[in-house]
Amino acid sequence: ETIGANLERTVATHGDREALVDVAAGRRWTYAEFNVAVNEIARGLLARGTDKGDRVGIWAPNCAEWVITQYATAKIGAILVNVNPAYRTHELAYVVRQSGVRLLISAVRFKTSDYRGMIAEIGFTDTIFIGTPDWNDLIAAGRGLSLEERAASLAFDDPINIQYTSGTTGFPKGATLSHHNILNNGFFVGELVGYTEQDRICIPVPLYHCFGMVMGNLAATSHGACMVLPAQGFDPAASLRAVTQESCTSLYGVPTMFIAELGLPDFTTYDLSSLRTGIMAGSPCPVEVMKRVVAEMHMTEVAICYGMTETSPVSTMTRRDDGLDRRTETVGRVMPHLESKVVDPATGRPLPHGEAGELCTRGYSVMLGYWNQAEATAEAIDEARWMHTGDLATMDEHGYVNIVGRIKDLVIRGGENVYPREVEEFLYSHPDVSDVQVIGVPDQKYGEELMAWVVLRPGATPLTTEAVREFCKGKLAHYKVPRYVHVVEDFPMTVTGKVRKVEMRERAVEILD
Ligand code: ATP
Ligand code: MG
Repeated sequence: ETIGANLERTVATHGDREALVDVAAGRRWTYAEFNVAVNEIARGLLARGTDKGDRVGIWAPNCAEWVITQYATAKIGAILVNVNPAYRTHELAYVVRQSGVRLLISAVRFKTSDYRGMIAEIGFTDTIFIGTPDWNDLIAAGRGLSLEERAASLAFDDPINIQYTSGTTGFPKGATLSHHNILNNGFFVGELVGYTEQDRICIPVPLYHCFGMVMGNLAATSHGACMVLPAQGFDPAASLRAVTQESCTSLYGVPTMFIAELGLPDFTTYDLSSLRTGIMAGSPCPVEVMKRVVAEMHMTEVAICYGMTETSPVSTMTRRDDGLDRRTETVGRVMPHLESKVVDPATGRPLPHGEAGELCTRGYSVMLGYWNQAEATAEAIDEARWMHTGDLATMDEHGYVNIVGRIKDLVIRGGENVYPREVEEFLYSHPDVSDVQVIGVPDQKYGEELMAWVVLRPGATPLTTEAVREFCKGKLAHYKVPRYVHVVEDFPMTVTGKVRKVEMRERAVEILD
């Protein structure tokens, strides 16, 4: 099934129900109204000469037009290219060139002289600015056109979307995804969370990332649930206000977002009693945070999802009846109709339960490939169609997966493997530590040494390296004890809220020099 056909089915059964609320803009659409808005833009794109397979970029923060564009491009078989709204013009130029964007739909606040300069430089012209007459002009241009012929020419496995990865470990790569890839993944996420047309999902995570557009939007529209966009960018107070005002049943976020929401000085004044579930994904969640999310945010059924852009994204997930321990110690079990295995990264052979190796995923959700990067695709997906995730994991005898870190972040000190995550979890228990990240830095004697970057709790006395080492003594194996401690205000992050350890390693080399 295509995304357009799936939306039509939801409209047929739930046309009167609310589909979308843009809280910042103060606007709302039922499914019938949403479909009309989508069709208007789809026709406008046809009038603009957009062919099947043409790349249409979207460079905007979260807003209703983002969602409308997502479904409009899908309906005409154009390939939506998600552009990170934090990108500035030189990064935009890379994406526009790399994916061959023909038409860009952009937030009006990006219409700067820098932008015009870039356009002139790369000879790219066609932009529609949201919030200007461009939008209505597009609608007007498409009036009277029919979408039927185009709809009939679409296939479920056509490429429909290029999503750039977060860029946590290097330069973002463009994962090319089909209707089949992302629609099914969104649908099964919705199934496992138990969405119905009664659900209202608060989506403060970026739409340009699969967390928003697949686990949020597609999970919602394939179940007749409502998408609630609290704000353009992440604002913890706006999220909780949206939950209260819109009686949301589900709330999404990466762990740092939940930490920010729980840390609001007026946290207890929000009425969160409508919440039943939600999704936490993207990076490991500290146990204490998970406990508070369940107890104080009423998200008793909150799910942990693990995945990556290249697998549309979710490949493992906790189930509604999994206990708190499963949700804090594992990322759940493999999704329906997917397979996963843990292999020895050197030999590719499956490892016994409990042994750490590279996690691999296979099935419907594995991307078509990286856009125009055949070599990178061949490195990531093997001949048997297994996606090699680059993540280190263990799997227990019941199939529960535990992510122990990324292969690139694994530290090998004097021949011993150290998983930074384990050291981080331990240091997190120090009373003065608010947040901590551990990396490997080059060392003459041991090959690599451990370095901890620490964010202190407000009012804590600065931690010395000696104090930290003393704290670890007798509790951690000697080779896991950080050699260096560096106190910081915050960590270098991606816009999806992930710590960029590559950047930390680069900076560490300078600091230690
Ligand atoms: P890049 O591939 O550009 O370096 P990225 O891998 O961070 O960036 P994404 O596709 O957004 O880009 O993120 C996928 C990665 O996020 C996974 O490979 C994994 O390392 C991490 N991840 C996702 N979910 C979880 C989770 N629940 N727990 C721990 N790590 C997770
Ligand atoms: Mg990745």
